[in-house]
Amino acid sequence: TSGLDVARVRADFPILHQEVRGRPLVYLDSAASGQKPQAVLDAIAHFYTHDNANVHRGVHLLSERATEAFEGAREKVRRFLNAREAQEIVFVRGTTEAINLVAQTFGRKHVGPGDEVLITELEHHANIVPWQMLCEQQGAQLKYVPVDAHGDLVLEGLDALLTPRTRILALTHVSNALGTVVPVKELVRRAHAKGVPVLVDGAQAVTHFPVDVQALDCDFYAFSGHKLFGPMGIGALYGKKALLEAMPPYQGGGDMILSVTMEKTVYNRIPHRFEAGTPDVAGAVGLGAAIDYLEGLGREAIAAHDQALLAYAEGALGGVPGVRLLGHGRERSGVVSFVMQDIHPHDIGTILDREGVAIRTGHHCAQPLMKCFGVAATARASLALYNTREDVDALVAGLHKVREVFA
Ligand code: PMP
Repeated sequence: TSGLDVARVRADFPILHQEVRGRPLVYLDSAASGQKPQAVLDAIAHFYTHDNANVHRGVHLLSERATEAFEGAREKVRRFLNAREAQEIVFVRGTTEAINLVAQTFGRKHVGPGDEVLITELEHHANIVPWQMLCEQQGAQLKYVPVDAHGDLVLEGLDALLTPRTRILALTHVSNALGTVVPVKELVRRAHAKGVPVLVDGAQAVTHFPVDVQALDCDFYAFSGHKLFGPMGIGALYGKKALLEAMPPYQGGGDMILSVTMEKTVYNRIPHRFEAGTPDVAGAVGLGAAIDYLEGLGREAIAAHDQALLAYAEGALGGVPGVRLLGHGRERSGVVSFVMQDIHPHDIGTILDREGVAIRTGHHCAQPLMKCFGVAATARASLALYNTREDVDALVAGLHKVREVFA
């Protein structure tokens, strides 16, 4: 019904076709890291086999080809996010580095003693700790938009939380722990009405539905390549040109300069100003290939598949006695988070693993959010374009085994 030929998609992912612990692998942990289609593996191998050289430096042909490949990948990311210009895309190691970059450049410049940084209770540690560090360094205060019992943000008090001292609002697009989809566009509008710029953590969003940074009108947007079925070690930060141009550099070194004397350095233009040192060119090439792959399948078709499978999974898991789903928000994407009466999530994960079913258990790097829900940990199954109803059925069968073991 979704228009996505999942059997064909699965054939593109070699890692899925293996047995683990004597059982066919059922991979339901893509929110932690996505698997890679052959096209991505081939693109990385092709780069190292034919084009490898350092970028932006050499006059020789390989360096030219490597630079073209790297800048070509940047253009693919621009198109993927619908940014206006490729120079608004900074390559980073991943979402974590993107947020640290903004905290330590934009943040150090604009956040002073007594100022406030606003985040939410839904955040991954990657969108909490860099702001805590910044606030500690600058003598500023970190505030949180609260979450309700459904896992939705409580927006009634938002205007009061956006004070004249608020210097930035940083929030996730989709919660990795609950799957809540945050109404980012509305939050951006309300923050901008008070003159507050907005950073969006898109790590769990870009994998599931199309994202348009111009339509959202956010000021920064961050995501990781490895969750997007590309390689580990590469990710992207989008920033509005005027903001990036006014930001001091992040790390110092080669490539981020125009000229260096013993006394003084003239920094390079954006985005290179934020890309000190030799970048992960093969990673960027692999990310570009992942984007091509997803666009080839159709991002709307992927979104429809993911939503249909999520609904199926919620229904199926809700039918297992003793299972309690966490997160019943208005709009959800990609993950089902659950607990089972009297059974520790770690035990659930261990028994499922024996059945070949890979899920994630623990606090999902969102300890403050777990605290809001009064749990230390959950079990989380996350869904991707290569998952099927059969995968969900295997999970449900595994959960019945868990019940038997603990009966
Ligand atoms: N934010 C969210 C919502 C995430 O799910 C993750 C990864 N679990 C991150 C940030 C951090 O991403 P990375 O480890 O790739 O930097």
